[in-house]
Amino acid sequence: MEARKIAFSIAGRVPIGGGNPVLVQTMCNTSTDDIVGSVAQCRAMAAAGADLIRLTTQGLKQVESLREIKRRLRAEGILTPLVADIHFLADAALAAASVADKVRINPGNFAKEHEVACAKFRELLSLCKEHGTAIRIGLNHGSLGERITQRYGNTPLAMKEAVMEWLRMCVVEDFYDVVVSLKASNTLVMAEAYRLLYAAMRDELGCIFPLHLGVTEAGNGDEGRIKSAVGIGTLLGEGIGDTIRVSLTEDPVHEIPVGRQIVAAIADGYSPRGSRTVVEASDWEDFIIKGSCLWGPSLLDKRIDDFSLKGSTIGGAPVPAADGDRFRDLLLQACRRRFTHPEYIACPGCGRTLYDLESTFNEVKRRTAHLAGVKIAVMGCVVNGPGEMADADYGYVGEGRGHVTLYRGRTPVLRYIPQEEAIDKLLELIASDR
Ligand code: SF4
Repeated sequence: MEARKIAFSIAGRVPIGGGNPVLVQTMCNTSTDDIVGSVAQCRAMAAAGADLIRLTTQGLKQVESLREIKRRLRAEGILTPLVADIHFLADAALAAASVADKVRINPGNFAKEHEVACAKFRELLSLCKEHGTAIRIGLNHGSLGERITQRYGNTPLAMKEAVMEWLRMCVVEDFYDVVVSLKASNTLVMAEAYRLLYAAMRDELGCIFPLHLGVTEAGNGDEGRIKSAVGIGTLLGEGIGDTIRVSLTEDPVHEIPVGRQIVAAIADGYSPRGSRTVVEASDWEDFIIKGSCLWGPSLLDKRIDDFSLKGSTIGGAPVPAADGDRFRDLLLQACRRRFTHPEYIACPGCGRTLYDLESTFNEVKRRTAHLAGVKIAVMGCVVNGPGEMADADYGYVGEGRGHVTLYRGRTPVLRYIPQEEAIDKLLELIASDR
């Protein structure tokens, strides 16, 4: 028997799942307590076509800020559903259930004790049912939690198992307005985790909850777009995924057109199962996204080792050789097949970000461009950054008040150093290890 595909409407007006069009969403990087700034950013996101907007909601104070942001947006006629992003404080999720249109929780950090987490989650389900609020169970590879990793390792299987525990609770409580995500910065881990979860929902639960796809900490520029298109495009091409977020360390408004381009590329036949064999493109960005959706999945799954650009065009002209070579290098690295430049993991930033992430990340990239094979993370905050930077060799993590902590792997080695010195110290640290 076919598994039931669950569909519902967020805020009673935005349908998700069950074959409805794929929703494209983004997240504010303003402080949620900056009401004017957050409203302005939400306004720009809505104008750019965001279907859902997420805001950092660290605690009860931010729940009240979110309430005011929502009130002002609705007064302007902007009806885009707002999602409260919760980490570490289950009580903030409970409070947000009557304010936000959807509450995102991370099973890896919902509460310290598993039994407490389960009890609080049941309470959340009951409140969300009462208020018509949806939930996202948003697990990240970098924040699986010890209880799960001790049993299953830091693997796609562990990610699937961790989420299934929470979905079983939803089924028992008869709560189905749930979206699930299993993000990772490694495209292979990300694709495998979603595939495992999809099969488990189908075979064990007999119902498929809507899936939110994304590659976390994808970085920016061409690398960020290519990595996102590989991970998201691979799954959309297999019919997996109902909403997507492209996470870029840039103005979050930029995420919307990239997301739309990925969805359009798949619909236009740019996938291994589609009708296309070459890329006909309007411009460079269009070309790299379509090319990543077309060749990325087969590279990722090792069905091919390389690809030909013969017959592909940008703006009607053959792809210039240098551009083609650069795209090949970036795509092969995004698919984890050949490593020709440093690997960057950078969070997109959010209301917790403690410094100018975008310019710092660009400066780190500029000064470390020669370090092929080294994996460097640049993270906005110390609350989530160290966990989320997963398997980076080195990490640059904002501490606030103009200070940074540098990590070797998961170990902080230079704590709370002035930001002006931090990139020099990072280079010294890497040099001392080589
Ligand atoms: S790591 Fe980055 S995106 Fe994640 S919570 Fe911290 S600042 Fe926000």
